[in-house]
Amino acid sequence: MGALAGRTALVTGASRGIGRGIAERLGRDGARVGVHYGRNEAAAKETVAAIEAAGGSAFAIGVELGLPGDAEALWEEFDRHADGVDVLVNNAGIGTSSALGQIDEEEYDRVFAVNVKAPHFIVKRGLGRLRDGGRVINISSGLARTAAMPDLMAYSMTKGALDVFTRDLSKVLGPRGITVNSVAPGIIDTDNTAELLHGTEGGWAQAAALSALGRVGETADVADVVAFLASDGGRWVTGSWVDATGGSLT
Ligand code: NAP
Repeated sequence: MGALAGRTALVTGASRGIGRGIAERLGRDGARVGVHYGRNEAAAKETVAAIEAAGGSAFAIGVELGLPGDAEALWEEFDRHADGVDVLVNNAGIGTSSALGQIDEEEYDRVFAVNVKAPHFIVKRGLGRLRDGGRVINISSGLARTAAMPDLMAYSMTKGALDVFTRDLSKVLGPRGITVNSVAPGIIDTDNTAELLHGTEGGWAQAAALSALGRVGETADVADVVAFLASDGGRWVTGSWVDATGGSLT
């Protein structure tokens, strides 16, 4: 029996990257996994197939986040497949590519809508579905605390806001035995970082050098931390910011 046997998980942005890694890991631990995606249904189906191939159970739900009514639409879809959720992972997120001098209001509003407003309202609308004793895990970033990359300031600000949400939500949900934590990755090899890692000369080596462990992170490096927090072993950790940057202190 896996650590999460009999539990239901929902991972936003699980079609690709870190979210896929988390979904596959929670599936291996025995959870039935809701694999949320925005536009890439084929990739979400691949995640579901991978979970099933490993002996697990999963379903895909597609809802674009960052638009009015997104949280309601997500839970409506979810309700077609499950009657409650034990582990909610707010992972879906986007980056910004413009520094302070270049960013316009549209890009700023979009990154906050997807990275901050959507998780906030997914939790608000999901309070009745979230089971007592459950888990909320928000995927933050090392850029919120341990490393400053001012060219990505607006993105980093969204993760700072998400971390405050984590801290205060832990007080709101604590009486129900629900833990709430942020997990903060450093640079992980995903589509999101493809340009940085593969599109620039020396990008991979520079990213690897940021970590005390001297390599670029893999999605499993983050998924394993999330799996711990989701498990019974993580029951006494709440309101916390868990560094999963491989020691990327700059
Ligand atoms: P990714 O490879 O670009 O994947 C993003 C995932 O989120 C996809 O499943 C995508 O769905 C979904 N998504 C994005 N925007 C969405 C929207 N508007 N509505 C619905 N779904 C949306 O990203 P990643 O690198 O795995 O990052 C995952 C999380 O980790 C993000 O919160 C990111 O900020 C954080 N993070 C990443 C790194 C890193 O180095 N990669 C470091 C620190 C923190 P579709 O496939 O349908 O597009």
